[in-house]
Amino acid sequence: MPSFVSPRSAGTTIPALLSFLTLSLVTPVIGHAQQPKSAAKATPTEAALDRLAKQPAVAAALAALQSENEWTLTEQTALCEIPAPPFKEAARAAAFRDKLAALGVQKLRMDREGNVIGEIKGTGPGPTLVLSGHLDTVFPEGTNVKVKREGTKLTAPGIGDDCRGLAAVLATTRQIIANKIPFTGRLLVIGTMGEEGPGNLRGVRALFSGPLKESIDMFISIDGTGFGITNGAVGSNRYRVTYKGPGGHSYGAFGMPNPLHAMGRAIAKIAELEASTNPKVTFNVGLVSGGTSVNSISAEGVMDIDLRSESAAALADIDARLQTALRQALAEEKARWPKSTVPLALVIDTTGLRPAGTTADTSFIVRTSLAAARTMNVYAPLTISSTDANIPISKGIAAVTLDGGGVGRGAHSLDESYDDRTDGYKGPQWILLVVIGLLTAR
Ligand SMILES: [Zn+2]
Repeated sequence: MPSFVSPRSAGTTIPALLSFLTLSLVTPVIGHAQQPKSAAKATPTEAALDRLAKQPAVAAALAALQSENEWTLTEQTALCEIPAPPFKEAARAAAFRDKLAALGVQKLRMDREGNVIGEIKGTGPGPTLVLSGHLDTVFPEGTNVKVKREGTKLTAPGIGDDCRGLAAVLATTRQIIANKIPFTGRLLVIGTMGEEGPGNLRGVRALFSGPLKESIDMFISIDGTGFGITNGAVGSNRYRVTYKGPGGHSYGAFGMPNPLHAMGRAIAKIAELEASTNPKVTFNVGLVSGGTSVNSISAEGVMDIDLRSESAAALADIDARLQTALRQALAEEKARWPKSTVPLALVIDTTGLRPAGTTADTSFIVRTSLAAARTMNVYAPLTISSTDANIPISKGIAAVTLDGGGVGRGAHSLDESYDDRTDGYKGPQWILLVVIGLLTAR
């Protein structure tokens, strides 16, 4: 990892980098509150889900998810204790594949990016649904991932994000197979690589550009804790911007363009960018570095920038204004020293692009997710975030990210925790109802 701050404070770079790379915005959307179960007449989707939950095989699966809840927590712990730093998720992927094999999942394979893919075939023709969790964490190699358990609370980096998701996928898959729940179509059970910042959704991108890209009709990622339904994809553009010159002595070489001064001009312009609140648009200079000493003109100034919006058009708009600001800063710093022949260059590296979009509130996948929550008597808000679902959503494929139940704290921090409390099992129960609902009712 390159140094992002002055070498003297290099010890602070890892947390700073993590917080930069991994911010996941989760904003509850106002106006989607569900009706309490008793207050309103059930919609056709809700009535179908209520009936589905009473089918013997489904009811048995739901009961087993509660009575065998400890199995889920054991899997969550076991997966969490296999380190999965960015780009080094292979060991956890292999374990996840072996666990799916033990459950009886068919056609297990790994694609060229390393995604683990398996299938459960339905009893007849129907849609293909993906049920997935992501294998990677934000934590670097060497992070202690031993899980500490106190009662129902598990503490370890990655225990919620996304070991909870992976465990919920395993538990749901296990009960669908064990209870021979009938459905039509095909359920693809997948562990994805590289969901977090550094991975830039590389696993799910590969999935939707590989052999399965034409055949996936619906996509669910289980990511996070609680009962949120993410159907809005926050798009983000991330850049590493470098102003470069030859540098020199602060006194002897004075009179040449200064890369750090150019960067300062750029930051001042970025700080003044207009950003709408609806749709929400954000910009951030998250990390800066450069320089060797107080009496040197630095050879470079480097900064990492993050732009986000739930609207693709608004994101493109602020991106264009950022690019203008960066070039203006370059021109102004050059113009400040008209007699200097020393070059000053601007290099913009793209470090992450995530597309924005929305799966409609009225879509079958969102209605089914809401109806299943109502059947379970849990409140599930619609939210906007940046997850694996960004890719299928941006391609117009029905996709959501569902939370895995329980209560999470401190995602992306070293003291991350997951508390199963008394009803963590309701997460996998909800997911099972959604999955079977999507593959049986239309
Ligand atoms: Zn995650």
